[in-house]
This record gives sequence, structure tokens and C-alpha cells, in this order.
Amino acid sequence: AVEISDLNRTFGDQEVLRGVDLSIGRGEFVAMLGHSGSGKSTLLRVLAGLDTEVGGVVLAPAERAVVFQNPRLLPWRRTLDNVVFALRGPDAVVRARDALAEVGLAAKEKSWPLTLSGGEAQRVSLARALVREPQLLLLDEPFGALDALTRIKMYQLLRDLWGRHRPAVLHVTHDVDEAILLADRIVVLSDGVLSLEIGVDIPVPRSRNAAGFAALRERL
Ligand code: ATP
Ligand code: MG
Repeated sequence: AVEISDLNRTFGDQEVLRGVDLSIGRGEFVAMLGHSGSGKSTLLRVLAGLDTEVGGVVLAPAERAVVFQNPRLLPWRRTLDNVVFALRGPDAVVRARDALAEVGLAAKEKSWPLTLSGGEAQRVSLARALVREPQLLLLDEPFGALDALTRIKMYQLLRDLWGRHRPAVLHVTHDVDEAILLADRIVVLSDGVLSLEIGVDIPVPRSRNAAGFAALRERL
């Protein structure tokens, strides 16, 4: 679904990405770790098509969606309209309602974004991203602003949504546990190059309990 080879991006004389190679298969869930400033968001923006001043080859599907740490809802549109906004066509409202129901927020369709909790707002953002059935879903620390319990619920939701829609996913996070729990494969970006790649081969169903978590962590 995604092919990047020898990707370079500089800002002034700062070389942020220095020959990144990465491929993500159709429907594959890849997590990306890396220190602050290592170029993760820059890479994501390139894949999102938001940054074209790059060297190298980038092949990504036309239909892609991004979810950022900040849900970026339009405050002057009600919840449902924020999702409808992503769509065209006569069935837009019906599809948006379905997407809101899928993230458990059917009851909030008339709410203003500023009255939603952080977790709810991020669920709307996920609904808005998935309603167009993207082949590539790009997530930039989507749960970074949420508390630990909400985050765990979001893991479950994201995995369920991914299982149903099967986009290829590139999920940027600082949280190693999150990467292990969610992804099939983890890549580490370090000083603008992919320095490490880890397959996550988990024998038990992805467990959400503390013991499971600890056991999984041991495996890294
Ligand atoms: P974090 O984990 O803190 O989000 P990151 O890995 O996402 O970090 P990037 O946002 O990709 O890091 O930034 C990588 C480097 O590129 C930083 O040094 C940043 O200052 C620089 N950079 C990113 N965008 C621009 C820009 N538009 N103009 C100039 N420099 C930029
Ligand atoms: Mg970033």
C-alpha cells in the first residue's frame, strides 16, 4: 500500500529525513517510535501529501486520512457536521451517522465540539478519518493527550475499527507499550533514518490486562 525509498527532507540546512526506506503492506498496522525531533511528524506529513518538497520516491494510495494529537474539529460545526464535512454526495449524512455510531457517539451528534471530552473529540476525529474508507490511515500521537484509562479504551476501539476497515496504518507514538499492543511491526526513526525494525509476534490475543502488558513488554 505504501512504498517510500530514499526519502530526504531538509529544512534550511537541517537534514531531517536522510534516506528513509519504508514499505507498509495493504492492511498492515505499523507503529513508529522515535525521539522528539527525530522527524516522525515530518514523515507523516509527507505520506499525507501535505509536504511535497522532498527527495526520493513516495508511493501512497490516494485515499488517506490523518488523525493528529489534537482532534482538530471545527468548533462552529456540530459533531455530526464535522464528520459530514469529510464527505460528498447524497448519502453523506447517513454515512456520517454510521461512523459516529461506530465510535459510540451516536448520542452526541448534535453536540458542539467544545462540549466533548478529550476522548470523545478524538473518537469523532477517528470517525471523520475512517468515514471515507481510506486505504492509509496516518496517526500522529493520537492518544498522547488522553489519560491512561481512556487511552486503553481507545486501543480497543482502534483495533476494532482497523479490523473492520482494514486500512494500512502508520501510527506514530512515544509509548512503547502502545506500539507493542497495537502494531504488527514497529519501526524506530532515529536522526532521520529508520534505525530498527521489530516484528511484534504475539502468541496470545492482544491482552489488555496488566500482566499481559508486562509479558509483552518483556519480549521487546
Ligand atoms: P515529536 O516527537 O516532538 O513530535 P517529531 O519526531 O515528530 O518530534 P518533527 O516534527 O518531524 O519531529 O520535526 C523534526 C525536525 O524538523 C525538528 O528539528 C523540527 O524543528 C524540524 N522541522 C519540522 N517541520 C519544520 C518546518 N516546517 N520548518 C523548519 N523546521 C521544521
Ligand atoms: Mg511529532
